[in-house]
Amino acid sequence: MSYQHPTGFIELICGPMFSGKSEELIRRLRRAQIARQRVQVFKSSLDDRYDEQQIVSHSEQALKAVVVKSSDELMGQVDDRVEVVGIDEVQFFDDGIVAACEKMANLGKRVIVAGLDLDYRGVPFEPVPQLMAVAEYVTKALAVCSRCGAPASRSQRITASDERIVVGAKDSYEARCRHHFEPDFSTQLAMELDK
Ligand code: ADP
Ligand code: MG
Repeated sequence: MSYQHPTGFIELICGPMFSGKSEELIRRLRRAQIARQRVQVFKSSLDDRYDEQQIVSHSEQALKAVVVKSSDELMGQVDDRVEVVGIDEVQFFDDGIVAACEKMANLGKRVIVAGLDLDYRGVPFEPVPQLMAVAEYVTKALAVCSRCGAPASRSQRITASDERIVVGAKDSYEARCRHHFEPDFSTQLAMELDK
């Protein structure tokens, strides 16, 4: 089938921590590179967990990335000739990232974004719900519950904090199923430590 106009689209990969979002993003981007498409990968400067110039999965796969502070900076760095744009940890971006993704898709680019759908309390994590609505393709990934091995849809923060963004990995978060998820655990722990 051939189309009259080359059409772009948005693909969203979402789910809790450890669900394989970065792995899946890296897999799709690698395949695009194998197909000799021009690919550009971005990550937020807030995510300094691993190597600063790469997106990295918990299974230690990595891909070189451009580090940006905001959606405006990202748009300024996107090469006109690029066909595929990847963004990891999209929940770390400002709300302008939704319009940025739409603009790139409207220009004919394939935009693949990965990020957390829920925060540490199980509340939808903007701008991911908005991206879910405008994306053509949405993949919900699940992790494995650290308590019972069931499919896990929630990220349990195991350290004390009531900040929405606390960058961390195995030291601060566990994947949990609905049954074992304790939404108030981290906030209550912070309150008890304050007393
Ligand atoms: P995400 O980007 O969604 O946080 P990653 O792609 O970085 O996830 O990592 C996924 C990998 O994490 C899995 O392939 C597996 O090797 C590892 N892993 C560690 N803990 C878990 C868990 N509780 N459930 C599933 N995978 C886990
Ligand atoms: Mg990830």
